[in-house]
Amino acid sequence: MRIIVPIKQVPETSNVRMDPVTGTMVREGVESIVNPLDLYAIETAIRLKERYRGEIIVISMGPEKAIEAIKEAVAMGCDDGILLSDKRFAGADTFATSYVLAKAIEKIGLFDLIICGERATDGDTGQVGPGIASFLDLPLSTFTSEIIKIDDKKILVKRLVEEGYEEIEMPLPAVLTVVKEISEPRLPTLRGKIKAKSIEIPIWNAEKINAEEDKIGLKGSPTRVVKIFSTKVMREGKKIVVKDEATLHKALEEILNYLIEKEFI
Ligand SMILES: Cc1cc2nc3c(=O)[nH]c(=O)nc-3n(C[C@H](O)[C@H](O)[C@H](O)COP(=O)(O)OP(=O)(O)OC[C@H]3O[C@@H](n4cnc5c(N)ncnc54)[C@H](O)[C@@H]3O)c2cc1C
Repeated sequence: MRIIVPIKQVPETSNVRMDPVTGTMVREGVESIVNPLDLYAIETAIRLKERYRGEIIVISMGPEKAIEAIKEAVAMGCDDGILLSDKRFAGADTFATSYVLAKAIEKIGLFDLIICGERATDGDTGQVGPGIASFLDLPLSTFTSEIIKIDDKKILVKRLVEEGYEEIEMPLPAVLTVVKEISEPRLPTLRGKIKAKSIEIPIWNAEKINAEEDKIGLKGSPTRVVKIFSTKVMREGKKIVVKDEATLHKALEEILNYLIEKEFI
């Protein structure tokens, strides 16, 4: 089984600061990590490989620094990695990002599955997985919570929907975006870390993947960010202090009256 896992390097979110003047994310001096939700995609791929054998190739579009993220995936158990990096990829929206990833996957050639994270913690759109499926004209399961069955021709998955779960069967090759429920990511092993240290990660540019100039980077991005601003909490909270049984009853009564007044109950 050949599995491709697209991963994104993102800023460590607990450290993210916004520039009060420009309203953009301050990336300087912020540590970068593998998008936390991509660890579940990596883990899912490794478990499939352990069960059915095969190869996992990790791809990432980003600056050269993103090699660190690819190496972390190798340290966890992935086999190979490719960085898609080119000055002309800069400013890509989700459309241009999906296009570049899809072109790279076409270049890689034969594969059975593409497994993406549910969304990236910085861009947060969840559009890239479906975008790749669309460019490659492949069946897609988003919010996948379980792989129930897989053989060399088809896959049966369980996916999270608003009302609960649904099961869908798709022919292979297919694209999955996975949710946390699917697996618990493992830590990198010592053996993996040694492999990651010595592995050469090739860097592919626009020519290498036969990408059309007007479909990449800012030029190929139909989305324009008009304004970025921080949200403000408009409502005021009320604090009720409970010290003993009597104040607990009073507090409950107050909350109940409030809910009745607002017609919530
Ligand atoms: C006009 C515009 C300009 C932008 N310019 C820049 C810029 O210059 N630099 C910049 O860093 N961002 C830029 N962005 C943001 C960038 O488009 C998104 O971060 C990117 O397209 C991924 O979207 P997302 O973060 O919402 O990922 P999601 O769709 O939420 O990610 C879902 C999954 O897709 C995969 N994935 C997503 N992105 C990548 C990737 N790059 N490589 C491999 N796999 C991936 C991962 O598996 C991930 O879990 C720009 C956005 C817009 C709209």
